[in-house]
Amino acid sequence: MSFLTLTNLQKSFGQVQVVHNFNMSIEKGEFVSFLGPSGCGKTTVLRMIAGFETPTGGSLFINGKDQRPLKPNQRNIGMVFQAYALFPNMNVHDNVAFGLKVAGMPKADIDARVKEMLGLIRLDHLADRFPYQMSGGQQQRVALARALAVKPQVLLLDEPLSALDAKIRVSLREEIRLIQQKLGITTIFVTHDQEEALSISDRIVVMNGGKADQIGTPFEVYNTPATRFVASFVGTLNMIEAKVVDPAANRIQIGDQGVTLKQSLAAYKAGDTVSLALRPEAGSLSDSVKSDTALTGQVTSAHFLGSVIRTRMNVGGNVISFDMFNSPGVTPPQAGETVTLRFMAADLLVVRD
Ligand code: ATP
Repeated sequence: MSFLTLTNLQKSFGQVQVVHNFNMSIEKGEFVSFLGPSGCGKTTVLRMIAGFETPTGGSLFINGKDQRPLKPNQRNIGMVFQAYALFPNMNVHDNVAFGLKVAGMPKADIDARVKEMLGLIRLDHLADRFPYQMSGGQQQRVALARALAVKPQVLLLDEPLSALDAKIRVSLREEIRLIQQKLGITTIFVTHDQEEALSISDRIVVMNGGKADQIGTPFEVYNTPATRFVASFVGTLNMIEAKVVDPAANRIQIGDQGVTLKQSLAAYKAGDTVSLALRPEAGSLSDSVKSDTALTGQVTSAHFLGSVIRTRMNVGGNVISFDMFNSPGVTPPQAGETVTLRFMAADLLVVRD
């Protein structure tokens, strides 16, 4: 059994089911992100793990122990929320010491642990400050230190960066990942920000309507999205409609152009319509690019975005975006121009609805 196992976990509020048969196994020391749009049930799953919500079905084990009979304070779980949620009338030292005092730890041991925790988050010099005297990023680091001080068996982070400005978000997410790896603590991180999830997770659970659409490493989720939802939620991407022509030969048709996929079409029959995903960065107009397939179409627009020129072309009624890397020698294509987009057949993926 994995360190944390959720089996067919369900939650309904009244008549409305918001978590449907959620299954997930997390190994000790893993960093897993729950990624999904607002309202998909991320926080509800987290709150069930913490014990703030009671599941209406399924089971929840941590380290081989059924958590359902346990109250939140019996589960030894650390939690950090979006709002900093520090005690406003306590200084940093006392905030971090809080859980240790409740646990009845001797004062000398508390002081040593608080010092260790403040060292970990590099805020040793602010031990006497009150929350109102600190920036949002600093307060969130204190909240992290407070959650970690009690040596929880699992750390739950519920959108801990979303109240911070963009620059701090990036540096703090890297810091969280470093601390998590240093301590080897099993962590679940809830976010609706795909870049955040891709950059720091061992694995990502992409959630859609209370279900896990796909569970995989950042590379798997980005490169081989299992569903149309995952494909469109994680990264920018083209969805292309195509007809299966010869399933045995993995042959499809986009408009009037035939393409041979790398992916097996054994599950389909000739005449079926399929949705294909293609990342804008996968294609290139250059002849020199390594490619084994191509599509020809008319340019509809080209937008200069700095490092890339995002270009759109029409292929048999499908609008396909692709990124040309900018350099002094590059001339953006003009609207109406006929161009050929080259890419690897493996980059064109059939995704299910
Ligand atoms: P967000 O990113 O906006 O926090 P989320 O993915 O974390 O979203 P949840 O907060 O888990 O989503 O909510 C999932 C669904 O459950 C939503 O439709 C929400 O309105 C509903 N919900 C959550 N808590 C309750 C509650 N106590 N009573 C009734 N409905 C609730």
